[in-house]
Amino acid sequence: MDSMLSQGVGSESGERSSNVQVSTSDAHKVDGKNPSEVIHWHNRGVAARALHLSRGVEKPSGRVTYIVVLEGLCRFNIEELNTRGPYCTAKISPLEMTKSEMEQVEQDPDFVTLSRQFKAIAMELISILEQKQKTGGRIKVLLETLPFHKLADIFVASFEISFEEQLCMLDSVDPKVRLSKATELVDRHLQSIRVAEKITQKVEGQLSKSQKEYLLRQQMRAIKEELGDNDDDEDDLASLERKMQNAGMPSNIWKHGQRELRRLKKMQPQQPGYNSSRVYLDLLADLPWQKASEEQELDLKAAKDHLDCDHYGLVKIKQRIIEHLAVRKLKPDARGPVLCFVGPPGVGKTSLASSIAAALGRKFIRISLGGVKDEADIRGHRRTYIGSMPGRLIDGLKRVGVCNPVMLLDEIDKTGSDVRGDPASALLEVLDPEQNKSFNDHYLNVPFDLSKVIFVATANRMQPIPPPLLDRMEVIELPGYTAEEKLRIAMQHLIPRVLDQHGLSSAFLQIPEDMVKLVIQRYTREAGVRNLERNLAALARAAAVRVAEREQAVSVSKDVHKITSPLLDNRLAEGAEMEMEVIPMGVNNHEISNAFRIASPLVVDEAMLEKILGPPRFDDQEAADRVATPGVSVGLVWTAFGGEVQFVEATSVVGNGELHLTGQLGDVIKESAQIALTWVRARVEDLKLAAAEETDLLQGKDIHIHFPAGAVPKDGPSAGVTLVTALVSLFSQKNVRADTAMTGEMTLRGLVLPVGGVKDKVLAAHRYGIKRVILPERNLKDLVEVPADVLSSLEILVAKRMEDVLEHAFDGGCPWRQHQHSKL
Ligand code: ADP
Repeated sequence: MDSMLSQGVGSESGERSSNVQVSTSDAHKVDGKNPSEVIHWHNRGVAARALHLSRGVEKPSGRVTYIVVLEGLCRFNIEELNTRGPYCTAKISPLEMTKSEMEQVEQDPDFVTLSRQFKAIAMELISILEQKQKTGGRIKVLLETLPFHKLADIFVASFEISFEEQLCMLDSVDPKVRLSKATELVDRHLQSIRVAEKITQKVEGQLSKSQKEYLLRQQMRAIKEELGDNDDDEDDLASLERKMQNAGMPSNIWKHGQRELRRLKKMQPQQPGYNSSRVYLDLLADLPWQKASEEQELDLKAAKDHLDCDHYGLVKIKQRIIEHLAVRKLKPDARGPVLCFVGPPGVGKTSLASSIAAALGRKFIRISLGGVKDEADIRGHRRTYIGSMPGRLIDGLKRVGVCNPVMLLDEIDKTGSDVRGDPASALLEVLDPEQNKSFNDHYLNVPFDLSKVIFVATANRMQPIPPPLLDRMEVIELPGYTAEEKLRIAMQHLIPRVLDQHGLSSAFLQIPEDMVKLVIQRYTREAGVRNLERNLAALARAAAVRVAEREQAVSVSKDVHKITSPLLDNRLAEGAEMEMEVIPMGVNNHEISNAFRIASPLVVDEAMLEKILGPPRFDDQEAADRVATPGVSVGLVWTAFGGEVQFVEATSVVGNGELHLTGQLGDVIKESAQIALTWVRARVEDLKLAAAEETDLLQGKDIHIHFPAGAVPKDGPSAGVTLVTALVSLFSQKNVRADTAMTGEMTLRGLVLPVGGVKDKVLAAHRYGIKRVILPERNLKDLVEVPADVLSSLEILVAKRMEDVLEHAFDGGCPWRQHQHSKL
């Protein structure tokens, strides 16, 4: 077969071996860049048929490449080469075997073995490639159909092998030689794939955990980018920086923050310290360095209206607050003292403070100091501690988000000091206008200006507040309310608020005034109104349940079109079952509830009170019952909850003249008991407490004095007169008057000294239904603070000496006098 031979390269030929038409000599270039060069031809070649010619891309140099697809037909040998003329021509002889020759070779056992080997190894290669690239199905088909000698050519053509090896394959005319060469090449290729796999596995195994994490993070990042989700770390830090820039920090603090930010940027997120640094910078950025509520021109009239609107009574207190605000108005930077409301719980201290904030148009934040014993609670922990955080003040400012809020330091009397420092001394710095310009929180570690904050403090008692702290505050006392005041507060403020909180209105629930009075008398005996509010809320809850149930029943009945009797309101309170209203078909729910509301407001009555609040907790008979035996007297004491009535019980038993005291008493009250006993013993004769021959009251006896309730700790000197009265009652076997309560410290000589908290004590006596109160003479001046209606309902008895107390405490005067009378 004669064929034309071209020197060009058919790069995309089906059989790559057909590309090879190169000289045996060295100086040849395949691409034939230099046509004038002498070409050395290889003496073997492949005859090919051009299947397709296409124009490729044009290169920037202007050269155009062409792609020729050639189909190899057979190998040939060059017999004679003619290089004259524009083309080379050659005389060739084909090297292809005839069919019979081929059949002969196929019978050859060597060929059979070789082809089996080749097939096995080729299959192995294909299955590996299949796993990797999920291709190879087509090659598998070829493997089954094509004769092996052709397969060898095809396989080898698909590997990257050197040019020499390609020529060597071309030269292998003998199928056996070709097969063994091909087997060798396929095997080599297989080995190299295996080695590469091994290396990858090894490298993967060596990847440390952090590298893996890094890789995963990179992937995550890529995914986020793909999703357009930009909140990754870098963006996060950038937004943090922006937030810090906008926080309006003073320049030195901004520099400090930047330094910290630079450090953070260098850290890996999983590095220890990254998080704490991040949280710290967040705090720096969140703190209101400059952000403030807009200062409004203070309208005193409006402020007063605001206070009046929120609070009933408290006339003097509101006046004091207005005075305080007026000073602020005239001199905004005046360093006036801090207001401190002192009084029992529930008298409106917190709500007054929040009204001040509202009147000033400022934000309000409450910091609870109850039980704070650690100085770090105020000043924060240094950042070197694990779990360190800022103090409550800085945290509060972060939460409120402005630098000029009204900050309520609640329960300032409940801070204590122990080994962890003294919170009160930290508070001193906070409340001192000279120092709080640069308040130093240990966590924050940079000064923060607290001078724009308006501080208001609350306390239950003044006594535990350390004097230096008290010195910086202007104390306003709220003693508690009378029953009448509570009634007004309940009617005007508490009931509307409670109804509103429970989604009710007066169209649903009505609590008449006399029922509120009953709640005050029978269920609450407190100075404030918190329990009252709680009890009213209990009524509202019960009503809400009934109303909700009824509404449900009503809406169910709508479809059924049930005919029932009209609603009966008061029966509800008597525990009667709900009855349904006649609801015409087709009315909507809104109309139903409107109809319902108008038809049946639930009116609270006495039976309902007992059903919801339980049996009455207090009654006026209590005092009479308790003093029904000799040896019991009624005292007035002062506790954190305001004034209280305190009974004292004394009894004598056979013994050796000892005094036993119980009821969780403090040292002072124990000493008062000693004084009282000594005073009584010293006056056995004067008081005619024993028979003439008995000189010692305690002969063969022990005295036991108990202060109920036993679980409540008690202390203070003001029980002196009450103790003496109980002892005199015991020894004289005369009952003390049940309607009389007393307070006063007593000296060993029997003088009655003034005591504190008179106003609260008188109010407590009034609440308790006591009619007569014995007070030390020098306490009379304190009565001006007691509301007039309370005073007018009480008989105030003055005592200068202990004898005066005894005179008032017993029916018909002091037992001693009675004795004298009976003698006369
Ligand atoms: P405190 O802080 O003294 O323990 P709060 O301020 O929390 O007491 O008051 C308890 C509740 O009683 C609040 O709902 C408050 O509005 C209400 N209250 C107290 N005194 C009055 C008053 N004079 N007028 C209206 N409501 C009052």
